[in-house]
Amino acid sequence: MTDLHTLTVAAARVALAAGTLSSYELTEALLARIQAVEPRVRAFITLTGEQALAEARAADATRRPDSGPLHGIPLAIKDVICTNGVRTTCGSAILETFVPPYDATVVSRLKAAGAISLGKLNCDEFAMGSSTETSAFHITRNPWDLERVPGGSSGGSAAAVAALMAPASLGTDTGGSIRQPAALCGVSGLKPTYGRVSRFGLVAYGSSLDQIGPFARTVEDLALLMQVIAGHDPRDGTSAPVPVADYCAALSGEVRGLRIGVPGEYFVEGMEPGVEQATREAIAVLRAQGAEVVELSLPHTRYALPAYYIIAPAEASANLARFDGVRYGPREPGESMWDEIELTRGRRFGPEVRRRIMLGTYALSAGYYDAYYKRAQQVRTLIKRDFDAAFAHVDVIAAPTSPTVAFKVGEKLDNPIAMYLSDVCTLPINLAGVPSLVVPCGFSQGLPVGLQLIGRPFDEATLLRVGDAYQRLTDWHTRYPAL
Ligand code: GLN
Repeated sequence: MTDLHTLTVAAARVALAAGTLSSYELTEALLARIQAVEPRVRAFITLTGEQALAEARAADATRRPDSGPLHGIPLAIKDVICTNGVRTTCGSAILETFVPPYDATVVSRLKAAGAISLGKLNCDEFAMGSSTETSAFHITRNPWDLERVPGGSSGGSAAAVAALMAPASLGTDTGGSIRQPAALCGVSGLKPTYGRVSRFGLVAYGSSLDQIGPFARTVEDLALLMQVIAGHDPRDGTSAPVPVADYCAALSGEVRGLRIGVPGEYFVEGMEPGVEQATREAIAVLRAQGAEVVELSLPHTRYALPAYYIIAPAEASANLARFDGVRYGPREPGESMWDEIELTRGRRFGPEVRRRIMLGTYALSAGYYDAYYKRAQQVRTLIKRDFDAAFAHVDVIAAPTSPTVAFKVGEKLDNPIAMYLSDVCTLPINLAGVPSLVVPCGFSQGLPVGLQLIGRPFDEATLLRVGDAYQRLTDWHTRYPAL
């Protein structure tokens, strides 16, 4: 077989089960691909190639007809998710040397299903950002244009899949960090319902918003990964005891009779015309297939960004208090304990993380709490109600993912507001806690555009069905960047 690195998870599974492909060959091919393109893309922080080959050899030796659904399949994991014995940095100098003594639940579930890890993927520091430029280690480049960002914060997760270095990966999404990079790199990505996938072992950013989810080149592959990672986890108090649907069985290819709502508010001022056009054409494809498309309004959308940038930094300021050089990662030596904490935090947190901690601490401080944090929480309720009202009439909401295609490296780094606006179409979904899928739906200026499909709480199955139906009708997801 040639071009093994182009295989999807589903195709690799078939070949592995049939015995026409070994996990060792597949892993070797992906490592060769990584060697060829990673110096230009730089999607990884830590590569575990030797370990992956050893695990692949073991997977080949232990394969049985009833082996796990991902037996012998190599994947890669965003570096905010703890991996036992493998350095987990969160893209930060403050965790440069941190090696977790345990696996996150998603990682142990992937391992139990037989998956192999190729390594840990680059991201914005503590997942704060939209371009993967705030990583303390290096920037990741967009495989479609190396002068451009892959999006963020899960830029490494999207770029690795787009550049054919891994058939699938895990990322996290607090305000858009799976969906925006998926759109900008031309791959598929799913942010599950809040509580659908365990956050145990995920280094928390905004605890009431964070969700782990999969990236892949097809919706079918997302369904395969979701089947493994979704489900209740007693070790995460926010994990929901809701039964997991059969996501693969849900992929019927059928959208007839489905009601799709299109919210006017998401076609924001200043949106790139090519993005709007590709999005509307994608919706027309679903309509032509028998879906009913209706206009709708989510009236509080414009308040999502300000509310998010109170709530997420407030939660971040509390979550990041634990990084003091005492328990995790390196310590800067000083005269006293307080000196050491101050030096470690002052020197090892990057500028964006420090900005968030200061914003969050301010918003939570006595005297400002009611004016900012409490107000933002009230706005959050209104946004959630917008979605509840919409889902009384429609099954799925279709919208753009990012107002523009991938922007140039450095273009928005010195302008935080411009950077924050990159997530204007994704943040409301996290505030509402609902699931959302992104699939490639065309190009603008030669760069990928992603269609965002938003669903009812815990109805990932319908999103995957619609996304898969769209991919049966179109071939955007089969295009690869020329690297
Ligand atoms: N860009 C947004 C932020 O910086 C979202 C990041 C994310 O989803 N992790 O907070």
